[in-house]
Amino acid sequence: MAYDIDMIKKVYDQMADRVTKAREVVGRPLTLAEKILYSHLWDGEATTAYERAKDYVEFSPDRIACQDATAQMALLQFMQAGKKKVAVPTTVHCDHLIQAKMGAAIDLQSANKSSSEVFDFLESVSNKYGIGFWKPGAGIIHQVVLENYAFPGGMMIGTDSHTVNAGGLGMVAIGVGGADAVDVMAGMPWELKFPKLIGVKLTGKLSGWTAPKDVILKVAGILTVKGGTGAIIEYFGEGARSMSCTGKGTICNMGAEVGATTSTFGYDESMERYLKATNREDVAEAANAVKEHLTGDDEVYTNPETYFDEVIEINLSELKPHLNGPFTPDLATPISEMGEKAKENDWPINVDWGLIGSCTNSSYEDLTRAASIAQQAVNKKIKSKSDFGINPGSEQIRYTAERDGLLKIFEDLDATVFTNACGPCIGQWDRSDRKGEEKNTIVHSFNRNFSKRADGNPNTHAFVGSPEMVAAIAISGRLDFDPTRDKLINEDGEEVMLDEPQGIELPTKGFAVEDAGYIAPKEDGSDVEVKVAEDSERLQLLTPFEPWDGENLMGAKLLIKAWGKCTTDHISMAGPWLRYRGHLDNISNNCLIGAINAFNKKSNFVKSQITGEYDGVPAVQREYKKEGIPTVVVGDHNYGEGSSREHAAMEPRHLGVKVVLVKSFARIHETNLKKQGMLGLTFKNEEDYDLIQEDDTFNFIDLAEFAPDKDLTIEIVHADGSKDTIKAEHTYNLPQIEWYKHGSALNLIKKENAA
Ligand code: SF4
Repeated sequence: MAYDIDMIKKVYDQMADRVTKAREVVGRPLTLAEKILYSHLWDGEATTAYERAKDYVEFSPDRIACQDATAQMALLQFMQAGKKKVAVPTTVHCDHLIQAKMGAAIDLQSANKSSSEVFDFLESVSNKYGIGFWKPGAGIIHQVVLENYAFPGGMMIGTDSHTVNAGGLGMVAIGVGGADAVDVMAGMPWELKFPKLIGVKLTGKLSGWTAPKDVILKVAGILTVKGGTGAIIEYFGEGARSMSCTGKGTICNMGAEVGATTSTFGYDESMERYLKATNREDVAEAANAVKEHLTGDDEVYTNPETYFDEVIEINLSELKPHLNGPFTPDLATPISEMGEKAKENDWPINVDWGLIGSCTNSSYEDLTRAASIAQQAVNKKIKSKSDFGINPGSEQIRYTAERDGLLKIFEDLDATVFTNACGPCIGQWDRSDRKGEEKNTIVHSFNRNFSKRADGNPNTHAFVGSPEMVAAIAISGRLDFDPTRDKLINEDGEEVMLDEPQGIELPTKGFAVEDAGYIAPKEDGSDVEVKVAEDSERLQLLTPFEPWDGENLMGAKLLIKAWGKCTTDHISMAGPWLRYRGHLDNISNNCLIGAINAFNKKSNFVKSQITGEYDGVPAVQREYKKEGIPTVVVGDHNYGEGSSREHAAMEPRHLGVKVVLVKSFARIHETNLKKQGMLGLTFKNEEDYDLIQEDDTFNFIDLAEFAPDKDLTIEIVHADGSKDTIKAEHTYNLPQIEWYKHGSALNLIKKENAA
């Protein structure tokens, strides 16, 4: 479980020189994000000033974290790289594959039974290659990382988009696809386009019903789901310093919902308190010794407009509690306006469930604030109108919350305490109260609320709020309930109001845990055997993708023209499909089944140009593959937003799709496509999307001259024989073109290892 204090000290030892050098090279004061980026350059000290949003830069991350759903494919890929041990400290966390249904005890037992093959695989690969293993029930990756591994000024990558949570402890922590993690595990640099910088100045102080969650709900409303794309969000100001470390974690966590590369905060006393409370006095001391490098330069925060690409200012004293949703996390509504807005939009007013916890909001402070509301319901004899579910973020937080009587308060309201795992946040929720596709409303303190995300029902309207607000709304049972204004009727028929929530930042008796759930790897794992059964449904060893033949791609057929939002959930759905994350062929049966076909507005219903018949996307694509016909997927804006799962790139690749041509990409997905040897292109003129027709054939007439910064020309042949010629842009640099040539980045790594 031990964090690597020597590694942390090494980072700090070189930080002063690297920051000074970077300041010299860049020729101006530096933001915190720049200090961390420039002190983690693969080549050591800075020799050049990088241009934001343009230059690709190689970095040297300090740590890697993987969750069980993405780790399967990452480790299957790493096994192919021919290495004995991972090159940097790495951990695997079993949290996504545990279904929430009856409560922790029963659910964990049944997950251990139903997913034993996968957990055993992950444990044995971890043991063999020097990876720390957190077993099922130990907690959610990001909470466990914050409690054990995150450190101010560090750089981490993780195979989950909410890796960004560690920004709460002053890291630059970035969600990546498994293929990126494999590079770093194999001792290679990690490449990223130097991000833009958004500064968020927080003034004032939170009070009453307003929580750190409301800061990010507000930011999401301002920036929208695309507004942070390609940028690091850096929070600063007295308001930032006044918040707890875990509150900062919540804000950084949901930076993923605005598409930000990551978010971070400068080192301050709240972080020192958190490090000490989680038994990392030595990390706090080491950080204190270099603290001037663990925050942005004074001048940067005095004149932020000069140094950031965009600046947002929020006065915490004036900020109101919000609920965001449904179906998108950027639809921000102040609680006071929800009643009107719900009526206008015909959102169901009655709330069925209030869900508290997840990696976003299960700190001690969160639980105490929500419990202070739940306790009032008990004391004031208010019967909760909605069901309650609690997902503790880690065994340490669960154990401590139980010891301090917090869980008992929720249980007195008949809450179900689920396993310390993702559960309803990732569709792993066997909901007993509603089956089918009934329209209904839930509120939760998680981060995402895309359609079908929680329970697979496209008509579940999920709203995101702070844990205390979720508790209040669940108790009232109404979406339009505003606890600052509205009264409730208790069991004696009296009108009562809920008082403002009260929280405790860190447990006064300290954190405690009996079995945190960590299994250390063997020092020498060379004799550990990793087993994958040939007939396994869930795990499949990989075969390398075919390299590019160097020819122009001709005669490619349109597989689907996706309309509107097409997230990685639409491309490779979660929920029941999570069980196939380690089996590429089986999981490919969910390929693009959530994407909406622009020609009929239906999901998983596309025309086969071979038969002229309509069928599901995977079935039609498998026919094209059988006939050796290449295909193209066309998409709208921000294609592939959402998560870092490389399955969304590997599945189409495995099934024979050659090109994804869209109006714009989400960053991680674009990189994932490149890693898997796919062509990810964007329309030079967005309006050309409208030219694409259902029976189109694509000829890529100058692909043979594929080169950086050179547009590609595509001839589109329509069913009536007419043609359009369009230009497509790409962001491939020379090394990425090598990935394309070799069929995948992994093929290239293997070749270089063998040399
Ligand atoms: Fe798990 Fe949800 Fe957090 Fe993802 S966002 S790690 S699914 S709790």
